[in-house]
Amino acid sequence: MNSPTKTKQNKLIIAKEMLGNLVDRRVLTALEVCVRCGICTESCHYYQSNPKIEHTPYYRAELVRRLYRRFFDPVGRVFPQWFGAGETTEDLLSKLAETAFSSCTLCQRCTLACPFGVETAEIMRITRSVATATGNAPDILVELANAAIAKEENAELFRDIYLDQIKDLEKEVQDILGSSKARIPVGEKGARMLYVPLAGAHTIVPQAVLFNIAQESWTLGMFEASNYAVFLADGVKAKHIAERITKEAEQVKAKEIIIAECGHAYTTMRWDVPKWRGSPLPFKVRSIIEVLDEYVREGRLHLDSAQNSQPTTYHDSCNLGRKGGIFEEPRRVIRAAASDYREMTPNRLHSYCCGGGSGLVAVEEWADIRLQAGKLKAEQIRQTGAKIVVTSCDNCRHQIKELSERHDLGIEVTSVSELAVKSLA
Ligand code: SF4
Ligand code: SF4
Repeated sequence: MNSPTKTKQNKLIIAKEMLGNLVDRRVLTALEVCVRCGICTESCHYYQSNPKIEHTPYYRAELVRRLYRRFFDPVGRVFPQWFGAGETTEDLLSKLAETAFSSCTLCQRCTLACPFGVETAEIMRITRSVATATGNAPDILVELANAAIAKEENAELFRDIYLDQIKDLEKEVQDILGSSKARIPVGEKGARMLYVPLAGAHTIVPQAVLFNIAQESWTLGMFEASNYAVFLADGVKAKHIAERITKEAEQVKAKEIIIAECGHAYTTMRWDVPKWRGSPLPFKVRSIIEVLDEYVREGRLHLDSAQNSQPTTYHDSCNLGRKGGIFEEPRRVIRAAASDYREMTPNRLHSYCCGGGSGLVAVEEWADIRLQAGKLKAEQIRQTGAKIVVTSCDNCRHQIKELSERHDLGIEVTSVSELAVKSLA
């Protein structure tokens, strides 16, 4: 945890200011309407995998409710013990810091179950903001967010190294396609699409193969799509990191930003960035999954399902699926690329989180927590009998690979793009 220098008093002042700013009428209503009926309990993968009171959605929100009342409710200010007997405000704040990051993946599944539509994920996002502002965020998430900002500030230092790496990847693409004309353009002005990858060749090479086959007008982005400040719920840094991409799209005059297979990067660019800017973006934002689906439907990409005959299933990323509404696009591509497709139950809107979302995968000390919370997903996968699990989010991909080892699933985990390349006709 960072910033041990912040004094207790300072932390209280910051927490109060933060809560005052972030708890708007909508969140306050959510805090007040929860009647602790427990209907949402079973909807949470943490509770399903390890049933205890701390794993219920309403327990998590209760900490925020108590803290808010202590700070702002006239009765709570005078009689704080009424809102958490035997507990000081400092105790409450440190409990909140402990639960903010590792006890909820902000998957929003519980909101579907709640008759009042209480948005626990929104409430938990506020706990993350408070924990981050009071110096209680995990160091690794802070370091990754700062590194992304530093990369932009020193872009010229990185550029040549990056271009060299991309030249090597371009050679791989040429070998796969058997054509020296295949390219990975970077910073190409006038390209219709700016494709924004993640760190890792698996988010560049297969997509470059597919773009070349589809004869797309595209260029590769300099910066990764992932935005760790989103996990910190640090709005200022998150906006800064996202702007690296929008500035690049403006420079190359792209008509579309295409986000790699990454759940939070897609929802951030699609919905949060316009909100932060206060105006719509001057370009369209799509996930690479939507683009691949379009290529298959338009006949620009010919896939042969006979190339992949092993039982195959798909894990819906919470961000792309429940939050982004992208359900059928990956399924159409997978069905075109694999002959034995099987659904998990439940799926689509009601899919369970894999347990690794919202930055949990990046924090080593949370491995046990997330792998236990993912037990339910592991069972869902086992029941399909699938040998290949396709996901459209890199976070889910890492988590499901580790779930396979922990729960002995014996599966291969892959992305939609990689599966498409394997099934090229
Ligand atoms: S969040 Fe909704 S479903 Fe869950 S306990 Fe509160 S009111 Fe009931
Ligand atoms: S948002 Fe997801 S992880 Fe968080 S309490 Fe609700 S169901 Fe559980």
